[in-house]
Amino acid sequence: MTSVPTNAADSEVERPEDMPTGVALLNNPLYNRGTGFTLAEREAFNLDGLLPPRVLSMEHHAARILQNFHKKPTDLEKYVYLIDLHDRNQTLFYRILIDNLEEMMPIVYTPTVGQACQQYGHIFRRPRGLYISARDRGQIAERLKNWPIDDIRVIVVTDGERILGLGDLGANGMGIPIGKLSLYTGCAGIPPAMTLPITLDIGTENKDFLDDPLYIGLPQRRLRGAEYDAFIEEFMQAVTERFPNVLVQFEDFGNQNAFTLLERYRNRYRVFNDDIQGTASVTLAGLLAALRLITLESGATRKLTEQRLLFLGAGEAGVGIADLVVSEMVKQGLAAEEARQRCWFVDSHGLVVKSRTDLAAHKLPYAHDHEPVADLITAVDELRPTILIGVSGQPRTFTRAIIEKMARFNERPIIFALSNPTSKSECTAEEAYSFTGGRAIFASGSPFPSYKLYGKTYHPGQGNNSYIFPGVGLGVVVSGARHVTNEMFEAAARSLADQVTEADMAAGRIYPVLSRIRDVSVAIATAVAEIAWREGLATAPQPDDIGQYVREFMYDPQYTPLV
Ligand code: NAD
Repeated sequence: MTSVPTNAADSEVERPEDMPTGVALLNNPLYNRGTGFTLAEREAFNLDGLLPPRVLSMEHHAARILQNFHKKPTDLEKYVYLIDLHDRNQTLFYRILIDNLEEMMPIVYTPTVGQACQQYGHIFRRPRGLYISARDRGQIAERLKNWPIDDIRVIVVTDGERILGLGDLGANGMGIPIGKLSLYTGCAGIPPAMTLPITLDIGTENKDFLDDPLYIGLPQRRLRGAEYDAFIEEFMQAVTERFPNVLVQFEDFGNQNAFTLLERYRNRYRVFNDDIQGTASVTLAGLLAALRLITLESGATRKLTEQRLLFLGAGEAGVGIADLVVSEMVKQGLAAEEARQRCWFVDSHGLVVKSRTDLAAHKLPYAHDHEPVADLITAVDELRPTILIGVSGQPRTFTRAIIEKMARFNERPIIFALSNPTSKSECTAEEAYSFTGGRAIFASGSPFPSYKLYGKTYHPGQGNNSYIFPGVGLGVVVSGARHVTNEMFEAAARSLADQVTEADMAAGRIYPVLSRIRDVSVAIATAVAEIAWREGLATAPQPDDIGQYVREFMYDPQYTPLV
């Protein structure tokens, strides 16, 4: 087995004992650096003659890649180009990702990754990560042995049933764990060799894929019920045995399974669900920062406990956000029931109210006493929310009339259209600003460009989970926390909100600029790790300076000399 160093700071210096040489080294993306190998390295690793003679620096490589990247005519072609680089030279891929995060993130993650997943079989180049399929039942432990690295610390796993807001993409969903893990490395410095993307291919209900000869997954309907549960149980037992220090992030599972699996495993293993908990944390951070912004502008303190929230969409994201908002309100002095009364939901059948008989269990805590209401606009009229949050996957559902009503009831309406990808957003940034005369505080799931109105520039916030999960993961990994708790996500939200500077606020931002994400992740990881040590959840020895320890762990891609 290839050994990888546990400390990323050494990862480029300490070579594995069985470091490949010659052509095998050039074909190994973890260690390959092409014409970046020095003359001494070429001699030591039998590369002489296999490379053009001139040695080029990482800066030269990065310049060439960026030049070619910018020539690609579509975002999907840019995605394919970056994936090829990822498969060829990981060090360079991460250097470029980190140094150009604002430009690269929408390519390696939402929205472009959504398009890539829809066409995965057609743009497929090389496999990455592990595919565990329904065919592997009873042998999952054997399959996991095929992964060549033992010290895996972070796995992102999906069963592809609800990819972004795009529905069931089956095994094509693999683009999501790959994209998320590249953000773990890019945003929080988790060494790439310690990450592993996994797709559980238990079938798909996507008719187009079932009929597509180039679909990469099993062409069969999904396993359901007891068969599905047994498959996941076998996977969880096998994966935690094979990789005892691993953090497992559940990603883009269908709504019902997402809640069930989180409840089933959160106290057994080191797991979390990003769609529920990561989304909640980044949204709470945005709300806290938005209220701070209003407080700064108006001089009167705006508290979370005084807000009324209305959600469009009562799924993983919506209920996850409400649960975290409620625990924060409770921390700020409200009783839990009072806090829940401040959160209202509209789902595909109208307002979630007590008299409804069709409600799934996760919606029940938010089913309040109220007459049935059929649609969002009437709900806005009746409830007069201060905060409107879209997590429905239904595009353009925040209509002009709804946005204008929000502006009529609120001096600074808070409007978050979080559905991904961009094509699913409940409204655009332009609509939110222009229909409120520039008064909306707006955030979206996928990025929108800055918008100019009346000579002023508005910077829409991106309520993107990548502000949260990499830092939380880093904190869990360095502390070896046995479980990932809600308190950690609350702390992450507060830490993120605290890092929005007055300069950010003056420019109307409610999230820090992306170029600061690695510092943001350090602060979040430190807050999370502190909880792990304080609550007795940590398994690693506590260092004197947690922040320093976190920084030293982080992978910084360089062509550090190998000989
Ligand atoms: P989900 O399937 O669990 O929930 C979707 C909810 O929307 C369900 O309650 C459904 O009843 C409701 N809905 C569907 N059609 C509706 C309609 N016409 N009117 C009102 N409600 C309707 O999905 P989820 O995980 O909660 O994700 C929902 C959306 O949020 C997705 O587009 C996803 O990409 C997005 N999301 C964004 C972020 C982020 O940017 N931070 C994070 C997670 C999810």
